[in-house]
Amino acid sequence: MRWAPFAAAAAALLRVEGFVCTMTSQMSKPTLLDMPVSNAGARVRYIIYEKGLEQEVDIVPPSEFGGLKSEEYLKINPQGKMPAFIDGDMTFGESDVIARHLLDKYADVGPSFTAPTLQERTRANAIARQHDVYIMTITGCMYKAAPPFGVHARRLDALADLRKQLDVLEDMACSSGPFLAGADLSLADAACFPTLVFCKYMLPKFGWAEGEILGPKLTRWWQLVCASKTGARVKEEIEGALRPWDERGRWDTILHAGARDAAPETIFDRILRKEIPSTVVHEDAYVLAFRDINPVAPSHVLIIPKVREGLTQLRFATADHAFVLGKMLEAAAKIAADEKLEGFRLVINDGPKGGQEVYHLHMHLIGGRTMKWPPG
Ligand code: 5GP
Repeated sequence: MRWAPFAAAAAALLRVEGFVCTMTSQMSKPTLLDMPVSNAGARVRYIIYEKGLEQEVDIVPPSEFGGLKSEEYLKINPQGKMPAFIDGDMTFGESDVIARHLLDKYADVGPSFTAPTLQERTRANAIARQHDVYIMTITGCMYKAAPPFGVHARRLDALADLRKQLDVLEDMACSSGPFLAGADLSLADAACFPTLVFCKYMLPKFGWAEGEILGPKLTRWWQLVCASKTGARVKEEIEGALRPWDERGRWDTILHAGARDAAPETIFDRILRKEIPSTVVHEDAYVLAFRDINPVAPSHVLIIPKVREGLTQLRFATADHAFVLGKMLEAAAKIAADEKLEGFRLVINDGPKGGQEVYHLHMHLIGGRTMKWPPG
């Protein structure tokens, strides 16, 4: 791999003179700005390796341009994301655009990544789009410290969506193979393989069994690509960059991976399972609200998250819990309106000294009488 060092010197020189813009047009070769860990960038590297373009295209890390958020880099790719590409006067980001640029520019070198039949080409486009729009956008749920994960504010929702989208991908894959779109290697293979390296590496941390990540068609294809020179190389590049993340304990604090709720069940779990009756006043996908068995006011409702996710106490709240905490407050407002309360108070007791008895986060909604202050 050519992670070319020359750009640093060029960038430093030109930065001094304030000619960062012109620097890009002076790059001697088309240049991919990328890092081994990037699954998006790996789509482009897959094409570079498979087409044998390493002598034609330099690969340099974004740090050579001051890093992803530097002024220099943002001039190349305003999104501040990897990968980006410089080809003469042209600078652009987005791995799909870069991949298509290379396939166009080097159409007569190596495999075309373009299937010979319309059916296969359309299947390849559909699979690549499924990957880009519905899978790639939510994969942060496997390694990012905090939400959002694409359209999802909750890691559990993103993981459930990922399950669904991998099943959709399985359905879309060509039955006869051996590649995703059919008999020929296509952009769909280059797009999906690096992301599935992420999935295979990270989803077991969330309790997914090895065999349930990919369906039978994808498994057959996965084995084929892993056995190829380019596939093995791309996989090792990505995994080689992920292993140090593991060694530094990246997943230790990630909810549902390293961080798991191992605290004992409480009475509220039995109420949630409806094993113990309660008077439910509100229920949605995220919270349950029911009347307190020992009310301290005419209206006394307990609002709890349906999945505790480590919230035995409020003190364990993290950014991962922000969504459900918001849902609890939203439910409180609705219940207070339903109960026609003129005034009310929300209380969360935390720990023995805070008066907490049940170790499943709950908010008391109290109303129907005039509250005193300070509380006891
Ligand atoms: P904490 O003291 O932990 O803030 O509040 C726990 C609340 O749960 C208490 O107000 C208590 O009355 C209520 N509670 C405990 N067990 C049950 C039960 O089985 N059903 C209902 N509805 N409330 C309960």
